[in-house]
Amino acid sequence: MLTPSLTVASRPIMTVTGPISYAKLGITDAHNHVWINSIPGEAPDNPVLGQFELILRELVEYREHGGESILDCQPGGCGRDGNKLLALAMASGVNLVACTGFHRKKYYPPDHWLWQADAEQVCDYLCSELEHGLAETRETSSPVRAGFIKIALEAAWADCPASALEAAAEAAHRTRALLEIHTEKGALAERACIYFNGRDVSPSQLVLCHMDKRPDFSLHQALASFGALLEYDTFYRPKYNPDMNLWPLIEQLVALGHSRSIALGTDMAEAELYHSIGGGPGLASLPGEIRKQLKERGIPEPARKQLLGENIARRLAGLL
Ligand SMILES: [Zn+2]
Repeated sequence: MLTPSLTVASRPIMTVTGPISYAKLGITDAHNHVWINSIPGEAPDNPVLGQFELILRELVEYREHGGESILDCQPGGCGRDGNKLLALAMASGVNLVACTGFHRKKYYPPDHWLWQADAEQVCDYLCSELEHGLAETRETSSPVRAGFIKIALEAAWADCPASALEAAAEAAHRTRALLEIHTEKGALAERACIYFNGRDVSPSQLVLCHMDKRPDFSLHQALASFGALLEYDTFYRPKYNPDMNLWPLIEQLVALGHSRSIALGTDMAEAELYHSIGGGPGLASLPGEIRKQLKERGIPEPARKQLLGENIARRLAGLL
């Protein structure tokens, strides 16, 4: 049972099939990818996920293992297809939450409009995708609205798109939408908190992605105390040594009382990580193997529920 906040009213979460209560999200992958079109002019090694039947099968498996919702973290212009997300959600019964925003520059053709636009233009675009519908769905009979903003930082602040960052801050401030922030292995997380907090974005709106690639316990404690949500997703990325880094982070932060500050994802942008496509762990690993391991490692049941969905659901709904 989720406990509604006493002071702040929750708002519905916008999934691709329409609004639902945050209490209905259930087990939720806080950062994943279920569809990525290939883009003319992009780098040849950029990930593509376009095998509808296999992805659908995988979503059905996710549901069969107890998974109910997934945040799709592919913004428009770099492979998002809101119409495919809608079809996959309807056929699988999984609640998909789509995003507006922007990814790293390397995932777009070099002349993409967003890098030349001013902050006001980008802010209008983000707000319109949240309020009226994703660009590629706007002219259809079933426009799909974005449920959050996803942006990406580069490794150095000087390389991040200044106008687009301004726009994301303004759009998050205006709409109160959740802001998922891709970090390059955790870099610039502190800087992003200061930047957005200074532009009237609440810490409770900030999700710092891939933070387990920078397993600095005192930093994670400080970011949790600040009020940001830390997203961990290297369960199946051996090069980040999850047994040495990710799992101790979870165990220690939970032991220190920060279980409300962690959300888990599996970030399977690469097709090889899909079970049905590449023989990888697959989408069902979050409600399956990861959930099982959380229990086996002694993470208490309330904390398991928080990490596996409750935390991201509450923040999508405007609650802490
Ligand atoms: Zn991702």
